[in-house]
Amino acid sequence: MERLRLLLLSMLLGCAALRTGPAKPLRSMHASPMLQGYESGTPAMDRRSVILRAAVAAALGCTYNPLPALALEAPTLASFPGALTSVETEDAVHNTLSARGYNNGNTLFATSTCPDEVNYKEKELVALLKSRWGEVPFALGGLAGVPFAGKAGLGAYAHHVPDEGKLLITFAPHVGVGIGGKVGAIERDGQVSVSSACGAAVGALKTLSKADAKAPDIISDLEDMQFEWIKMKLAPKLAGIEGAPNDIAYVTYMMYELVRDSMIAQLKASPGIWQDCSEVALLGGIQINRYGGDRFQPLFFQATTETGKTTDLYKTAFGVLPDLSSPIGNAIAAEKMMIASL
Ligand SMILES: [Zn+2]
Repeated sequence: MERLRLLLLSMLLGCAALRTGPAKPLRSMHASPMLQGYESGTPAMDRRSVILRAAVAAALGCTYNPLPALALEAPTLASFPGALTSVETEDAVHNTLSARGYNNGNTLFATSTCPDEVNYKEKELVALLKSRWGEVPFALGGLAGVPFAGKAGLGAYAHHVPDEGKLLITFAPHVGVGIGGKVGAIERDGQVSVSSACGAAVGALKTLSKADAKAPDIISDLEDMQFEWIKMKLAPKLAGIEGAPNDIAYVTYMMYELVRDSMIAQLKASPGIWQDCSEVALLGGIQINRYGGDRFQPLFFQATTETGKTTDLYKTAFGVLPDLSSPIGNAIAAEKMMIASL
């Protein structure tokens, strides 16, 4: 009877705990040795199925672990190759920076990330970095992770660092990958419906995609300055979207480029920060929000000093840069997009 019950349950649930072996882990889809990919044909399960299976399992006294279904490595890595777990990312950053003399006594951490609460979950990247570096981060970012605090905010942040200390800034636009594998979707706790992430980036794309859309050429609505800025800057970058396999992933990369370039421009235009610090480390990438565990796709990691000596830390920390030609839909544009320096 017990055997029959387990057999039925195994068939009904596809429960990983009841299988004779774990789901087949495949080799990485990317050159980074840190990646663990899943078979690209792994079917993504919709949310209703996950909830139903969990309820049936609970009724039968069995634990249903939905994480294999929710892991969503295939759709995540298809659009965001090289994405790592938050722990992997934080470990790599910490190992690299501690070797350069960064510690929580001389380093002040700042973020340029979207204010959306989904980016500040326990055990995910910002929380792990906060725990590592010991302070609530100085918040430089506004909607979509754009560093709207500007040069004035950057100067204030630098002024707070321990004498001759170091700045660690993380910038990251974000994007959801829903349980069904949809890029741009996120299941939020307590909500039945699925919402968008990043709402600002998705909203700007929707607005700019309307037949009669006209991108602002100046910021005229002072009650909505951040969204105006995003629409204004994003509009000319949508020219290549037709060639991309996924519109939201494409827009996320365009937002990444906008955020990165703004962050670098502000740093270069703020020589006063060198009166307060000896080195700046800048980590950039895309924060991927997922029910069941975020991912971070590192795309930029450099450090620079007052004398302009810039060191690229990416290879040491993360290995080879990902090839974005597939999600961006254009190899030349993808390669060009990755060229940036402090
Ligand atoms: Zn957002």
